Amino acid sequence: MKKYKSYLESLVTNRKNKTIESFKSSQKILTLDETVDFIKENCKEFLKYPVKIKRGIYNDNDYLYIEPVERHSLENLDFYNLIIDNDPSWEGYPKRLKSLCCILKGKPNLGNKFYYVIPVDGSKWGLCTGSDLFVSFNYLEKNTNNLYINEFFDILNIIISDNYLEYICDKCNGTGKNDLGEECEYCQNGTIDFQFNMKLDDTNYDIFKKQLDKIDSILNKNPRFRTTFMTELFKFYYIYDNDTLFNMIIDLMNPIKNNFKIQTLKKLYNSSKYRKEIWTESPCILIYDEVSEDIFNKLNIQIRE
Ligand SMILES: [Zn+2]
Repeated sequence: MKKYKSYLESLVTNRKNKTIESFKSSQKILTLDETVDFIKENCKEFLKYPVKIKRGIYNDNDYLYIEPVERHSLENLDFYNLIIDNDPSWEGYPKRLKSLCCILKGKPNLGNKFYYVIPVDGSKWGLCTGSDLFVSFNYLEKNTNNLYINEFFDILNIIISDNYLEYICDKCNGTGKNDLGEECEYCQNGTIDFQFNMKLDDTNYDIFKKQLDKIDSILNKNPRFRTTFMTELFKFYYIYDNDTLFNMIIDLMNPIKNNFKIQTLKKLYNSSKYRKEIWTESPCILIYDEVSEDIFNKLNIQIRE
């Protein structure tokens, strides 16, 4: 294990909150011989179970050692990653915000060059239900308006930001008049506009949870308003009739109900032949597609598709 340790020590881990920068900062360029030596020494599991794992990156080098560092999505809010990395229901899964996301048995969709991914021994993987994390929450999709996970959080954010949510006044039952026939003092023509004016925190799990609890306390003051809110957010809100908003979201994202799995390399090797997104916290060797045949010949292995 000497070699592995010296590689670790030589890493530059300059943590920036941008995916590409942090990705670059965590890599070390290797030569062909160094790569072969490293794999023989530290990737014995892969030599036994050479499964096709790929990733697209923006890079000009053929061989790289990658150490996953903390990263944040550039295009999307990170609520789902925040939950996966912090909620007890996801215990045992590799941390999304400190991981290398790859494609199992298929072609990656990002990056300008494709690389084979070879993990060090003892790697642990999160296995998505679909070819991309976004399309993997089938249970959530079924219980909302067929929303993908990112869309669901977008809608939640829109509802609780500066948008107005209109609901029927329960004091006058939407008539706009009180018992004496005068104008209802609680509403305008039977309806009330409500504005949460909140911005959910996608960087701190505890703050996020507190914010949702606050929304709950507002919702619970008025059953009609709660129903309006839930109908906006969920298709089948009634399945959660008495639960808190936070619990609903945790349930919708439940890894068992959405068929996510924690896998070893051996399990990935033996899994069915479908393109799936997988992620790991383990250090990996990356080998550029075009030079891979040479190196796999040297290692005397055949990659299983
Ligand atoms: Zn009213």
